[in-house]
Amino acid sequence: MTPRRVSVVGGGIIGLSIAWECRRRGHEVTVHDPDPGNGASHVAAGMLAPVGESYFGERELTELLLESARRWPAYARELAAASGRELGHRTEGTLQVGLTADDLAQLRRLWTHQRELGTPVVSLDSEQLREREPLLHPRARGVLVESDHQVDPRRVVAALRTLVPVRPTAIGSLTELDADADTVVLAAGCASAALAGLPVRPVQGTIVRLRGPVVLRHVIRGYADGRAVYLVPRADGEVLVGATVEERADGHATAAGVRDLLRAATDLVPELGEHALVEVSTGHRPGTEDNGPIVGELETAGARAPRLLVATGHYRHGVLAAPYTAHAVADLVDGRALPLLWAPFTPQRLSAGGAR
Ligand SMILES: Cc1cc2nc3c(=O)[nH]c(=O)nc-3n(C[C@H](O)[C@H](O)[C@H](O)COP(=O)(O)OP(=O)(O)OC[C@H]3O[C@@H](n4cnc5c(N)ncnc54)[C@H](O)[C@@H]3O)c2cc1C
Repeated sequence: MTPRRVSVVGGGIIGLSIAWECRRRGHEVTVHDPDPGNGASHVAAGMLAPVGESYFGERELTELLLESARRWPAYARELAAASGRELGHRTEGTLQVGLTADDLAQLRRLWTHQRELGTPVVSLDSEQLREREPLLHPRARGVLVESDHQVDPRRVVAALRTLVPVRPTAIGSLTELDADADTVVLAAGCASAALAGLPVRPVQGTIVRLRGPVVLRHVIRGYADGRAVYLVPRADGEVLVGATVEERADGHATAAGVRDLLRAATDLVPELGEHALVEVSTGHRPGTEDNGPIVGELETAGARAPRLLVATGHYRHGVLAAPYTAHAVADLVDGRALPLLWAPFTPQRLSAGGAR
């Protein structure tokens, strides 16, 4: 294999994990980003939840995410060892719960779908649920998804940054890199749209961070009287409450959005009402029309231009999909084909308007 000179545009979790994987395979890599790690990756909850995120009609995406989830434990071990950093990787599993009869009716449809995918969804009676998570509202009912885990994306980014060099430059046009590299990887999240005309749109999301003495044992997600919410507890006492999903990109958290998140959170776990509210953050998920990522090769203008690879559009799943995306893109850099599970997610599936 010939070592390549690789320029990665974008130092979020996707660009940084690609850069580290390429370095591990012997390539010379530089990441360009004026504000590395502070895009969507800074806001994300870090749920590694292929089961909780499996929706009707997205079987190919679910299979891709299940494979990336399988890779996370080894990836977390290797990254922690290489960087000497702790990543907050936790494997207690996720409780999917509802409060009202309507909440549970909605969840039951989801559980049937999740079981049809062959994923393990363990029913719990109310006593078992209370044993696992004593602070849940007594009316809550639900299941355990053992395989849906979590990691702290801010820690992952910090660990990756110890392993790859980042130049603090904003790339105005990809042709700027023609002299620097023989392979360019575009991984600029939502900004990939402007840089390469890709159909990626920002889907705004707000997350609230609480801190207090009460410790939750699991990620909890579900519905509280019709309001969708997730609670992601970190080992240090922080609890993330997320997230809004909004088709806008002004970067403003709204009062109503935060109110609904806090209301759902405190309905599910009343004790959270005593926690301090320490942060409200808003980020932009790089969304695509079919909710799948865009990973593969783009045509370049001239014969002497560097090869142009792209890895963007990870929408709600960029943290989960990072290890497998890095592996797939590094395979392309090595001159190999994309792994088969990626075939439905190449840029070639997109028409000019972005539809499949
Ligand atoms: C509220 C919320 C909750 C989420 N929760 C989860 C979750 O629980 N699990 C999960 O898997 N995913 C989650 N996500 C999704 C996840 O955050 C994204 O899919 C992921 O962060 C995308 O990573 P990225 O590296 O492509 O983009 P980003 O993290 O946005 O990084 C893009 C980078 O490109 C840089 N850039 C932009 N323009 C240029 C330029 N011209 N030149 C150089 N660099 C440039 C930016 O500075 C930025 O650092 C969540 C997202 C949000 C908003």
